[in-house]
Amino acid sequence: MVEALSQLPGIGAKTAQRLSFHILSMPKEEVEAMTGAISSARENVRYCAKCQTLTDEDICPICKNPARNHRQIMVVENSRDLAAYEKTGKYEGVYHVLHGAISPMKGISPADIRLKELMERLKDDVDEVIIATGCDLEGETTAMYISKLVKPAGINTTRIAQGVPVGGDIEYVDEVTLLKALEGRTKL
Ligand code: ZN
Repeated sequence: MVEALSQLPGIGAKTAQRLSFHILSMPKEEVEAMTGAISSARENVRYCAKCQTLTDEDICPICKNPARNHRQIMVVENSRDLAAYEKTGKYEGVYHVLHGAISPMKGISPADIRLKELMERLKDDVDEVIIATGCDLEGETTAMYISKLVKPAGINTTRIAQGVPVGGDIEYVDEVTLLKALEGRTKL
């Protein structure tokens, strides 16, 4: 059990051991419920036919929700990023999950991420595509690529603002981030 658990990201040998002892002290039914949840998730989870996020239904709850603005699509790199934006509770549009970012260094080409599916969705009525890929080289490359694809379709394309983190000390922020913060400044 210790060996199996330590294969998980962020779990070292010590933590794996601590978790193992904890699991051994749990009631059998609780352990069964937990392993059952893991197996069933692995078995049933697939990609949403629309936004490509992980879901256990054909269409995920966000895409199914009529209260969301289906004409505003936020493009993210993975389902973890989607979850982060969902946690804010302030975004009312829908998403598109790429499952990666273009990276010539790692040999990830535009065909390897879910861009084709995005282009397919843009045939419907869409007012805005918000590009929320990461601020690293791969994220920027992907953002540029998407904006070149989307703009000819006459759809408003925006990029999330980047800059100084909230509570961040200016003096420790790198120059690129500071420059981005300056470029993305807003009128007070
Ligand atoms: Zn969906």
